[in-house]
Amino acid sequence: MSWTTHDVGDGVTLTSVVVGYAESNCYILVSDSSKKAAIIDPGTSDRDQIAEIVAEVKRLGVTVEQIINTHGHPDHMEGNDLLKREFGAKVAIHELDGLKLTDPDRNASRLFGFNVQVAPADRLLVEGDKVVVGETELEVLHTPGHSAGAIMLVGDGYAFTGDTIFAGAVGRTDLPCSCDDSKVAWEVLMKTIRERIMVLPDDTILLPGHGPSTTIGYERSHNPYVK
Ligand SMILES: [Zn+2]
Ligand SMILES: [Zn+2]
Repeated sequence: MSWTTHDVGDGVTLTSVVVGYAESNCYILVSDSSKKAAIIDPGTSDRDQIAEIVAEVKRLGVTVEQIINTHGHPDHMEGNDLLKREFGAKVAIHELDGLKLTDPDRNASRLFGFNVQVAPADRLLVEGDKVVVGETELEVLHTPGHSAGAIMLVGDGYAFTGDTIFAGAVGRTDLPCSCDDSKVAWEVLMKTIRERIMVLPDDTILLPGHGPSTTIGYERSHNPYVK
């Protein structure tokens, strides 16, 4: 496993690694002065990969206080319990995706032939909440479409977007509980992209749940779903 460092500005260290069957990005966000950290989307329960994440946290010399799931699909939360046990961190997810953590039908894992269940969240997030990591603050924006309780975490000049938008693509809307009807979910996703994501400044760095980072400006001119 190799770690990628993202330059998202002063005072913050951000590193990520690709984990799990769906090649998800697991991020470690560190507030440099306090050495407090949050893990965003630990999408693996593979013991070796979890050990690598733990080793990276030790290498950084930080304290992980929070685990945040951008939404409740297994490839973004499967490692919650193992890392929670390791660090004593609190798990947070949007209130509309809370039940996905404990229910393999709701989180779509049963659909793919394996049953993923993790512990309930310690904190249920809603629109406008703040996630505080040392001196760094992330604002919670509700970004439904790919999942009913999908969120974007917006920092100073960067945003974690989960599976809502990727470099050159957007999230699927055909999974259970995305919405009652995938056609409706697609409309919800497009509205989220238009009204919540593409309104951010062009130089905002987007850190998606899969694939490379990008920027609002790049997606504005290259992403076919945004044009
Ligand atoms: Zn997803
Ligand atoms: Zn995903």
